[in-house]
Amino acid sequence: MGRIIAIANQKGGVGKTTTAINLAASLAAAEQRTLLIDCDPQSNTTAGIGFPKDPARRSLYNALILHEPIEKIIQHTQVDGLDLLPADKNLVGAAVELVGVENREFFLKTLLGEISGDYTFVVMDCPPTLDLLTLNALTASDSVLVPIQCEYLALEGVSELLDTLMRIRRSLNPTLAIEGILLTMYDERTTLSRQVASDLRSFFGSQVFATVIPRNVRLAEAPSHGKPIIFYDIHSKGAESYIQLAKEVIQNEQKRTGQGFGSTNPGAGANTAAASAAAAGGSADASVSTGTIAAPGDDAAGN
Ligand code: ATP
Ligand code: MG
Repeated sequence: MGRIIAIANQKGGVGKTTTAINLAASLAAAEQRTLLIDCDPQSNTTAGIGFPKDPARRSLYNALILHEPIEKIIQHTQVDGLDLLPADKNLVGAAVELVGVENREFFLKTLLGEISGDYTFVVMDCPPTLDLLTLNALTASDSVLVPIQCEYLALEGVSELLDTLMRIRRSLNPTLAIEGILLTMYDERTTLSRQVASDLRSFFGSQVFATVIPRNVRLAEAPSHGKPIIFYDIHSKGAESYIQLAKEVIQNEQKRTGQGFGSTNPGAGANTAAASAAAAGGSADASVSTGTIAAPGDDAAGN
């Protein structure tokens, strides 16, 4: 079975889609067979990896709701070893159509049971909500990767997400781990970025990936060309950072399966309770110290 990673944060515009596309492409480029699943009706991942809108193309909707064979829906992408399970706007309907259906949170898990053995990694891009599509993704996943933008109020909503993760662990998916927290759109020239990054590391400790994704205009341009950054500008800082992230994810997987050493992020698989307590301003684990941001505590109290 491959490692199934959901990219989730219900806050919009934090770099989920950019991370899904470029982590998946970098994993495939590192010779790890990878499936990228677009769970977001906005379909930005689908377009960004080179599949512009096409009403005739089947999507995750056809698999989830119409029960069409998944092999007919999966597409090969321009990256060797990277396949795509595309989205389209019909998925908005899926979230509604599944309401009231028995075991509605498990549809994606059942679907992936048929194919995840074909891949070393499955990367899922989630919509910016905690709706049924996101719940399906988190139920089907081994772990969740949470991108957080290095900006003011970075932790806004994170405690809500971590609460949801804890609830999912209690009911739908007891083994759901945190793959890691990823700092995105980092601008080393600004004191704010540096301060936010340092505070996030104090809060989440080793659960934060060593790799940081810089703010890089090439990353923002690449999707309009339908290319992952490694094909659009391999020499950019953005490409460098996602290749590094893929290495970190692979090393963590090798550590878990006992095949290798050398990861800088021993936090993978660490428990959500510690992170949630940290986000709420407390500390449930000696490895997670409290930081200096007031916002997360405020946010946890406010929610
Ligand atoms: P949504 O919540 O709407 O799904 P998202 O979390 O998927 O958004 P993205 O679409 O990946 O976020 O990114 C939001 C915007 O920021 C996009 O225009 C994207 O191109 C840009 N962006 C993402 N990461 C970077 C980066 N590291 N440097 C510069 N621009 C970036
Ligand atoms: Mg997105």
